[in-house]
Amino acid sequence: MANKDVTDPVRMEKIVSLCKRRGFIFQAGELYGGLNGCWDYGPLGAELKRNLKDYWWRKTVQERDDVLGMDGAILTMEQVLQSSGHIGGFSDPMVDCKTCKGRFRADNLDTYECKEKPSVCPGASPKCELTEPREFNLMLQTNFGATGEQVAYLRPETAQSIFCQYKNVLDSNRVKLPFGIAQIGKSFRNEINPRNYIFRSREFEQMEIEYFCRPEDGMRLTDEWLETRLCFYEEIGIPRAKLHILDVPDGDRAFYSKKTYDIEYEFPFGIQELEGVAYRTDYDLGVHAKGSGRPLEYFDEETKERFLPHVVEPSAGCDRTVLALICEAFDEEELGTDGKSDMRTVMRFMPSMAPIKVAIFPLLKKNEEQVRICREIQKSLQPWMNVFYDDSGAVGRRYRRQDEIGTPFCVTVDFETLGEEIPDLKGTVTLRHRDSMEQERLSIDELLPWLLARVR
Ligand code: ATP
Repeated sequence: MANKDVTDPVRMEKIVSLCKRRGFIFQAGELYGGLNGCWDYGPLGAELKRNLKDYWWRKTVQERDDVLGMDGAILTMEQVLQSSGHIGGFSDPMVDCKTCKGRFRADNLDTYECKEKPSVCPGASPKCELTEPREFNLMLQTNFGATGEQVAYLRPETAQSIFCQYKNVLDSNRVKLPFGIAQIGKSFRNEINPRNYIFRSREFEQMEIEYFCRPEDGMRLTDEWLETRLCFYEEIGIPRAKLHILDVPDGDRAFYSKKTYDIEYEFPFGIQELEGVAYRTDYDLGVHAKGSGRPLEYFDEETKERFLPHVVEPSAGCDRTVLALICEAFDEEELGTDGKSDMRTVMRFMPSMAPIKVAIFPLLKKNEEQVRICREIQKSLQPWMNVFYDDSGAVGRRYRRQDEIGTPFCVTVDFETLGEEIPDLKGTVTLRHRDSMEQERLSIDELLPWLLARVR
């Protein structure tokens, strides 16, 4: 639930504007007026998102023995979503306002701001004329075949392909309980009210784990996964102090869930959900065993028991985490020098998340030797990380441009590098730190190991 006490619309406006100006995020279809609830990631946004997904995959799948990855189809059979309950029940209550003609989710009316008539809409005001809530199904349907005879759906979550392939993964990989299957991919929901920038959109990406376990371990593992996920956010630069844990009370949880934690972040538009960690019991495997008529039980070799595993699901939104990273990184710093006010905009991304890891500048664009060395350094670093070369304008201005997009390090090749003034400094460069703005000299040979130790 959004907490209006902590909102900061001015900060949010600055963030949205920077993201467009510097090429992080654009409105999808902007050229034609825009497609509501859909966003395109520009060059820097694509790098940031990729860094996040790669890190999640590495930590969740590659560095663990007990989690395997998969990559399921987006287009989903009707029967799958029939069994899972999405076709009948994946809906939000919707109301229309006859005063402002707005359409809202009835279950969180207090978080909306009416643009046209804020004093009367929505809901809370006695003057507001709201219709009775109607259930609105959030799934996006499409049709297959030459005459469109077969119905399919764009998946509303990545989880269902994991449940449906659970047996194939189990049989093909010789794994034992407890084990997880993880997936990153697009999901689609026809949200009633897409808003708060990329926070709630109609096409978005999820990073989900279905962790299968013995029934008696479900509660304990839910708490353990909550802790693992909180540590993950800390590692990518979202401090624990800005995260809130909502222990979802009975009645607000899905009927099959015995425990659900929402991990929420203090966005500039309020405290809102980043991820849900839910203990889903054996509901999912149970409905698919019933719906498909195929046995999905697990056979325990040691105890000779046969049973349906229970599931703990940490389900995170990729786009929401990208937005949290951007909101957390955005900073404006007053650097008043000589009585003149000077505001520096800095994106304080952790080096592992930063879209560009290092920028390389020749001090003088016209100095051929400086340019040649820069290009050589660039070539040597490029197989390992995203590098950016820039030779336009004063070096100070170039630093500021990199600060604004969160590049943690800048390397300048200058006259010292050429050994023209101080022979001892030949082959060294100026390395400038984004956050402290401090500079040090480093030899070109040390650069790659120095950076690799910091940017991954
Ligand atoms: P909400 O209550 O905000 O609609 P939810 O509880 O329905 O979210 P889940 O079904 O638990 O969300 O989905 C898991 C995660 O997927 C969410 O925590 C969120 O990060 C992400 N997610 C869900 N819907 C959207 C959306 N429309 N846009 C972006 N991310 C989303």
